[in-house]
Amino acid sequence: MTAPLDRSATWPYEDGEPGRFSYARADHPTGVECEDALGVLDGGHALLYPSGMGAVTTVVLTMLHAGGRIALAEGAYYGHRVLFDHLAHWSVHVVEFDQTGPPPTDVDLILVEAPSNPLLTMPDLEAAVAHPAPVVCDATVASPLRLRPLEHGCDVVLHSATKVLAGHDDVMAGVTVTSDAELRERLHLTRRLAGIVASADTAWLVRRGLATLEQRLDRQEATARALAERLAEHSAVVTVRYPGFSFLVSFDVADGEAAGRVERGVRAIENATSLGGTQTKLEARHRWEGDRIPQGLLRLSVGLEDVELLWADLEHALGQV
Ligand code: PLP
Repeated sequence: MTAPLDRSATWPYEDGEPGRFSYARADHPTGVECEDALGVLDGGHALLYPSGMGAVTTVVLTMLHAGGRIALAEGAYYGHRVLFDHLAHWSVHVVEFDQTGPPPTDVDLILVEAPSNPLLTMPDLEAAVAHPAPVVCDATVASPLRLRPLEHGCDVVLHSATKVLAGHDDVMAGVTVTSDAELRERLHLTRRLAGIVASADTAWLVRRGLATLEQRLDRQEATARALAERLAEHSAVVTVRYPGFSFLVSFDVADGEAAGRVERGVRAIENATSLGGTQTKLEARHRWEGDRIPQGLLRLSVGLEDVELLWADLEHALGQV
């Protein structure tokens, strides 16, 4: 029962008028099919984009005015900060805050991350939604199976569907979900006018990934929990961060040099960026994020491999430190 993949860019008018689908920059059937499934998972109206950053850009263009101030969770995905800094010439201002407490008062949009990547703190959603500004929650790492931020009063949930939703590291995609129909229309208008629209192929792959999301996440999470416990006992490991659910662990070794040895020491685990896929990946984040991240921090995204295979690989790599 695979949904058909319709790559059309245009569809014939019906009785001389555009029908439900007329031009793919607005909507296409494969995209709508995927959005319906994503909407059910998060309990709202979903829109699909060609990447997570495409989703964030659409949110900012739609929900922030020129000169507006964004409160961004400290330690949230570094790409958000880089994008907002890049938009400084549109007078977008960013202020970072500790998301385990309330956001600063004088802001127009709040972006929290549940949990933050890679420091893995959880936002205080109650404090965030008590603020008068709209709250966007990036729940990429939690996935809708572990957290449904709309039920906590957030205005928009955001996902990089490149990660666990699609799950196989073979597609880039992003999602917004909101229960506010009017906001969904505004986001949709920006997406259509700016052309930040996911292809039918993208939508089809995300939709297929959802069919195994629960099974993948359950297994990845069980393995991540076991590895986090074992890492905490290892003499070369200084700190382990694991939020208690999902597939992402981060841990520190002594310094940047030690982190580099672990990166070069892994064999079964891929030394590569990204997270949420079937293949376990590890990387030192300092190279991308600079001093906001400890030099010895390694991010481990746990995939579907056998836990003993992964632990043997980590033990071997940590033995090089
Ligand atoms: N949000 C989080 C938490 C991420 O980890 C990423 C990418 O790593 C993004 C958003 C951006 O998503 P994409 O790479 O699909 O544009």
